Formats: sequence, structure tokens, C-alpha cells
Amino acid sequence: MKIGIYNNETAESQRVTKLLRTEMERTGLAYTDHDPDVVVTIGGDGTLLSAFHHYQKQLDKIRFVGIHTGHLGFYTDWRSFEIDDLVESLQEDSGQSVSYPLLDMKATYSDGEVESFVALNESTIKNITRTMVCDVFINNHLFENFRGDGLCVSTPTGSTAYNKSVGGAIMDPKCIGFQLAEMASLNNRVFRTLGSPIIFSADSKLILRLREENGHVLTCDRDQWVLKNTDDRYLTELAYSVSKQRINFAQYRHNDFWNRVRDSFIGGVR
Ligand code: NAD
Repeated sequence: MKIGIYNNETAESQRVTKLLRTEMERTGLAYTDHDPDVVVTIGGDGTLLSAFHHYQKQLDKIRFVGIHTGHLGFYTDWRSFEIDDLVESLQEDSGQSVSYPLLDMKATYSDGEVESFVALNESTIKNITRTMVCDVFINNHLFENFRGDGLCVSTPTGSTAYNKSVGGAIMDPKCIGFQLAEMASLNNRVFRTLGSPIIFSADSKLILRLREENGHVLTCDRDQWVLKNTDDRYLTELAYSVSKQRINFAQYRHNDFWNRVRDSFIGGVR
């Protein structure tokens, strides 16, 4: 079994990376950058998101393990003082894993070009210069005309991230599907949207047909693109569905999802 390490640049993450490398050498665990079976990320959720996109083409054969060097993360189960335990788990690895759904996004441009993306957390579309107007199609039927700041489409594991901040529901990550949440929709006697988040089933298809040519900002997890109409080429449509790919985590111990939600968002309960 070959182990990859993906760390952020903080001093603590670099210290932990060095420690892990030393322990791996001492115990004979093989290190690789290119074709790892397990990738250990050292940093926070953002580091795991970056590692996910770095290894996106190898998702079917990689399992991730997250060490957090800051505060508790949603994708990072191990703490920096648990390196010995983690190395022991890596040595005893028998391929145990848990996997979660991902979101496919296809962006279509006015010249017909289509770009494909996969999100671990979410994709958002906003218009930063004016009210965003778009037609929302669910399974190819026009559902509503959206007017507002933007829309957030998230995975089950991404539901505790941006989606939660914009009023989306938290999804149990064992659910297969995805969620649409509004950002500041305009609702009055003239303009009307559903006004609540929607959770879609695994076989649903969501299409957002944009009405303007300029001012959009498109995101996919940590990546963001400010889009302009250049040479009559602009973003026209976004299509979302559950991806055929999944993310796999090496599961060496069980961390209850709802305990993590409680610890992160509520704190102590009596
Ligand atoms: P960042 O440095 O702005 O950190 C965002 C925070 O979100 C961190 O505390 C991180 O731990 C947390 N986070 C990331 N994924 C999470 C998840 N699945 N569940 C719960 N919390 C999660 O940005 P970053 O580290 O580059 O992470 C990018 C993510 O930040 C995006 O995917 C998006 O979800 C989130 N974000 C949130 C907002 C918001 O809540 N208003 C705005 C922009 C981006």
C-alpha cells in the first residue's frame, strides 16, 4: 500500500507532515506523490477539498484520511497528536472505507462549449453586478424563474458548509442526492420562487438557464471564476446531477456524523 501526503503551508501542518514521514519511514510504509492508495491530508477541510481536486482523476482507487491541524473539520477525523495511532491504523489497513456522493456540474457556453466539473461540497452561481435572473428546470420541466443574489447546489457532505449558511438543510451524508438553496431571492407580488431549499433524489437533473450575459461568479468548492461576455462567449446554462464518482475515506474508526454536527454548531448540551 502506498501513501500520499497533501498538506497546507502552515508551520503546524509542516511539522506534522515531517513527523508523519519520519514515522512512515520507521515503520516501512511506502510514500508516493503519483499513485497513492491512501492520501493523508494535513490541514483543514480546505486542504481536503484541494487534495480531492488534485487527485480527482484517481478517485476510484484512492481513499482519503484527514488530519486537522486547526479546529475540528468535517472531513478531518484525526488530530495532530494522534500520528502514532494513525500510522498503526495504516499498517493494519484492510481496505475499510466509507464513500459519499459527489455533484456533477456541466457549464454550457454560448458558443456550445461544455465544461465538466465535480464538486465535493457545492457549486454556487451568483451575479455580482445585478440581480441574478435564471430559469430553474427540474427534470427538464420549467419550475420557477429565480431572481436574487444566487443559488447554491450542494452535496450531502457539503450541506454543512456554504449550504447551511444560506439556510439549506443538513443532509445525512448516507443520503444519495443533492440540494438547491436560494441566496436572497426576490419574493413579492411580481416575482416568486419556492423560497425553501429543495433536496433532490439520486436520479434528478437540475438545470439553471441564465438570463444575463455578464457579471456571474461561478464556484466549485474552493475554485471560483468571474465570468464576462468576451467575444460573444458567455455562460448560458448549468446542469447538475449526482455524479457517478464518489469520494472514499479510509474508515479506521467510527465518527458519528450527528455528534460532529452537534460539536461543531451547538457545543455542549445538558
Ligand atoms: P474558508 O477558508 O473560507 O473556510 C470555510 C469554512 O468552511 C472552514 O471553517 C471549513 O472548515 C468549513 N467547511 C468546509 N467544508 C465544510 C463542510 N463540508 N462542512 C462544514 N464545514 C465545512 O474556505 P475553504 O477552507 O477554502 O473552504 C471552501 C468552502 O468554504 C466552500 O466549499 C464553501 O462550502 C465554504 N464557504 C462558505 C461560505 C459561507 O458559509 N458563507 C462562503 C464561501 C465559502
